[in-house]
Amino acid sequence: MPVASTGGVDALQQAGYAVDLQGSVEDTAAFLVRDNRPLPPVEALAAVPAATRTDAEAALRATTVFAFVAGELAAAAAPSAVPLGPAPGGVYLAAPAGSPIEEIHLPGAKPGHTERLLPDPGLLARPAGAPPAGFVEAFEDTAPSPQTIAAVRAAVTAEVLGRHVARISGIRPLEEDGALKVRSRDAAASDNALVVEALARRFEGLGLAVRLHPFRWRDHRLLNVEAEHSVPGADSTVLITAHLDSTAANGSFVDAFGDPRPYDPAVDPAPGADDDGSGTAAVMAAAECLRAILDSNRSDRMPTRNVRFVLFNAEEQGLVGSKYYARAAAAAGEDIAGVFQMDMIAGRQPGSTPIVEIHAGSLVSGPVVSASDALGERVARAVPVIDPEAKVQQLTGLDDPAAGRSDHASFHERGWAAVAVSEDLFSTPDGDPGTGTRQYHTPGDTLVDQDHDTEFAATVARSVIAAALTFAGL
Ligand SMILES: [Zn+2]
Repeated sequence: MPVASTGGVDALQQAGYAVDLQGSVEDTAAFLVRDNRPLPPVEALAAVPAATRTDAEAALRATTVFAFVAGELAAAAAPSAVPLGPAPGGVYLAAPAGSPIEEIHLPGAKPGHTERLLPDPGLLARPAGAPPAGFVEAFEDTAPSPQTIAAVRAAVTAEVLGRHVARISGIRPLEEDGALKVRSRDAAASDNALVVEALARRFEGLGLAVRLHPFRWRDHRLLNVEAEHSVPGADSTVLITAHLDSTAANGSFVDAFGDPRPYDPAVDPAPGADDDGSGTAAVMAAAECLRAILDSNRSDRMPTRNVRFVLFNAEEQGLVGSKYYARAAAAAGEDIAGVFQMDMIAGRQPGSTPIVEIHAGSLVSGPVVSASDALGERVARAVPVIDPEAKVQQLTGLDDPAAGRSDHASFHERGWAAVAVSEDLFSTPDGDPGTGTRQYHTPGDTLVDQDHDTEFAATVARSVIAAALTFAGL
C-alpha cells in the first residue's frame, strides 16, 4: 500500500504488515497513473500455459512500465512525483499532499488516467470475492422478458431522458416551479448540493427509501444519493448507478484581459449534459420504470432482489464518492449482486453508427473478473433486442481502456461484479476513433450540442435497465 493515514498505518501494523514510512503520512498523497503505451509481445511467455499467461504478462507489463516511468521522472528537471512501484495497468506515484490531480501526469498519458488513492485500511479486509449465493443459477435465463422490455420502452424514452438532463444541466429550471438554472454540478460548485436535494426529492416522490451518504472531499461536505426498493427476504441487491457531478476542466477560459486562465470550478459553467447528466437521467428513468412495474400490481412482476439507484458525487475527482460508498457497503456486510453504471451514454456524432461500449475490465483480479464479464454479457444481449441497428463493443481485461476509470471500479475493489456502459468513447484497436461526444469535460457539453443524442441515450439506457431489472428478477 503506497500511502496510509496514521490510523491506516496502525491498522497495517496490527494486521502484521511491516510498514516502511517514506515520508510524513500527512504530507504525502498517492496516485495511480495508468499507462496504456503498447508493449511488444513477450516471446519468453509463449511457452507459459494460457491459464497463467495473462497474469504473467500483466505482471511483466507492470514492471516494464514502472521502469519506463521511473526513468522518465528521474530525467525530468523538477520531478513532481516519486515512483513507488508497479500497479495493474500503470504505476503508483507519491506526491505532496496538496498536489492537484491535474498536475500528476506522465508524458503522453491521457487526461483522466490519474486516480488519487485514498488511504483505506479497509481494503485489507476485502471479502474473498466469492460470488453471492444464487449468482451462478441466476445466469441461466439472462434474456429480458417481453414484459420487462415493454415496461422499459414505455418509461425510458428520449423525451424523458432529455427532460431530466435539461433540469440538471441548466437548460430548464432545476425545479418545476423554481427559477434556478444549474450552472455547474462540479463537486466544488454551490449548485452541486441543490442538484442532490432535487434528485433526492424526485426519488422520494417515487416512493423509494432515500438515503444521503455524506463524505468529505477537500473542504467540501458532499453527498451520494441512494434510493432503494427493498424486497422482503431478498438475498442481495442490484445497483443501477451514474455520477451526478460534472467538470469542465478541459475547457478554454480567458481572464478579463483575454489571457488564458485555468478552469475555476466554483464559477465556470460545467453543464455536463452527457458526462454524466445522461447517466443520471437514465438512473432517474430506471426508478420511474420500476415504479410503473410495481404499480401494475401483478404478483408475477415483482423483483426478487433489492433494487437500488445510486448517484455518486465527486467521480471526476478520482471516483471519490463511490469509493466511500463501496467501502461503507462492504463494512456493513452488504451483498451486492451486481452494479450497472452508466457514464456518458448520449454522445453520438451526427450520422455515425450507434455503438454501445460495455466495460467490464477490472484492475482487480479474481472471481470479480468473470462475474463482471457475465454482467456485461447480459447488457450485450439486451442491446439488439432494444435496437437491432446498434453495434456493441464489449471490452474487458486490462486492455479495457475504462478499467478503473468510472464508479464501477470502486466496486471491483471490493470484489463485486460491476460494469460501466457508455457511448463509443474509445478508438478501436485498429485505430478507428470513437464516435462519442467531442465536448468531453468542456462547457460545450450541453443538451443542445450536436453530439448529444437523446434517442441514442434511450437505446443505451433501455438496454442497461432491461438487463439490470432482469438480473433483479423481473
Ligand atoms: Zn463521467
